[in-house]
This record gives sequence, C-alpha cells and structure tokens, in this order.
Amino acid sequence: MYHRVINNPFVPAVTPEEFDRHMGYLKRHFNVLPIRELLKAQASGEVPNNAIAITFDDGHQDFYTHAWPILKKYNLPATLYVTTGFIDNQCWLWPDLLRHILLTTPAQHVVADGINTLPLTEAKVLSTWNTIASYCLNLSSDERTQYISNLASQLNVDIAQKPSPLFCGVSWDNLREMASEGLDVGSHTVSHRILSNLSDEELTTELATSKQRIEDELGNNCTGICYPNGMLVDISPSVDALSLASGYRYGVVAFPAQDPANRMRVGRWPAPKDFRVFKRLVNGVTRRANITGERA
Ligand SMILES: [Zn+2]
Repeated sequence: MYHRVINNPFVPAVTPEEFDRHMGYLKRHFNVLPIRELLKAQASGEVPNNAIAITFDDGHQDFYTHAWPILKKYNLPATLYVTTGFIDNQCWLWPDLLRHILLTTPAQHVVADGINTLPLTEAKVLSTWNTIASYCLNLSSDERTQYISNLASQLNVDIAQKPSPLFCGVSWDNLREMASEGLDVGSHTVSHRILSNLSDEELTTELATSKQRIEDELGNNCTGICYPNGMLVDISPSVDALSLASGYRYGVVAFPAQDPANRMRVGRWPAPKDFRVFKRLVNGVTRRANITGERA
C-alpha cells in the first residue's frame, strides 16, 4: 500500500528514487499481479509463487507525475483508489489542509481545543500534525471543518479555495490517459469520510456515487472499494454489506488481513521507505519489520 511518491520531507511518502528501487526489486523477484487477478487466484486456490499486488490511495497528482512513469518503465500493474470528490472539485483533503496550515504558519507553536500547546518547529511539525489529526478523526465532518478553519485563523493562514500544488489531485483526463495504458482505478469513496460513522443512506451515497462516477468517467468496471483511514474501527458489517450491495467485489483495509478469506477486508501492508525493511516485508518477514501504522 502506497500513498504518495514525492520528494518532500513534510509529506509521508516514498521518494521517486525509493519507489523506483522498490519496483525494480519487485520486477526482478516477484510475480506482480493486478489485485483482481490475485484475489481470483486466491479464491481458486491457485496463487502463483511470489505473487504480490501494488495499490495506491487517494489520487494525488504525484501518482501521475512520478509513480505511473516508473510503473510503466517496469511494466507493472497497479490499482489506484481515488476519492472522487477530490478529483471532481480539486478541493483540499482535510489532512492535507491541516498539514498546509501547520507548515505555512509563521507561528512557532499551536494551542487548540483538545490538545496541549504543541511546537511547530521543523523537527516537531510532523508529530504535531499527528496529534491534531488524531483529534480531528474523532470529530464529525462539520465539526472538523470548523475546527480546522478556526485553527487557520488562529495561526494566520489564509486558505485558498484550491489546494497548493503539493496537495492537488490528479484530473479525470490524467486518469483516462493512465487507464488507457492499463491502470486499474478503484473507489476511495466520494469525500473520504469515515464510513463507520455514517447512516446507511450516507454510506450508500459514498459507495455507489463514487463507483458510478468512476465508471462514467473512465468507462471501466470499478470493482474495488478502499475504506477511508482503513482501520478496523473505520469499517463495520454495514459497510461490508452495502459495499457488496453497491456492486463492489472486494474491499481493501490498511492493515494486514485478519481473515484472508474475507473478500471485503482484504489486508495490505504499508510500503516502508527503507529499502532493507521493504525487502524483509515483501519476503514475508513481517514480525521484525518496523512497520508503523499508516492511514489510508
Ligand atoms: Zn485515503
């Protein structure tokens, strides 16, 4: 599971160089399959040796500019799960907006509801982001918007309607071009809300509307759903049931599978930056791999 491929110390990402090294290694030693093929093989009990699938979440611009050219260079299949509201509106994803505020404020520290005084120095800004983002995860969507907007005024940051280039999404044209070259595109919902907090009606909108949007724009069959944030608390039996009812064949989470037979909870491992840790992980040495949780 990858998110971003970009060289920026303030964004959790692998650099294009690290990603190239990962892909070269997978090309040489693994059988990289589209996730759909891998799941089909798993269901029929005929998984080829050394099979692996590569996935990306969210749909930031750097997938188009950095990741896809490297995947094409090695001729490797991948699936990108996009948040359709992000692509349609070219709006801020809230974790990005929070990061932008903390990175661009002239302030040296932040004090806000629910958190202590936290430093904004270069060395500490990422851990401060983590603390505030965890707090924000427990707010409702409206409360979170208000909270982040208050934080922006308090920290003297003007918020532009459109994200700064670092936080832009890919366009439908980018996606069409990549899909014509073999990219598989799945859904990461409409608005990246935490699905376990939603009513059945809201859930259906997030699941069915995003699927339809992708199929309308790309003319493909969108069969996979990637649950926002992707932890166990972020999904529920209703999420599984309504995903199936919306026509998805499988769902991916952001942690290793607890039940490999459960098609609606397909497990994933976050790809680590460090090449030695990456090699251990893909070779199945997961116990000692220093894997930190990464949100989806
Ligand atoms: Zn995500």
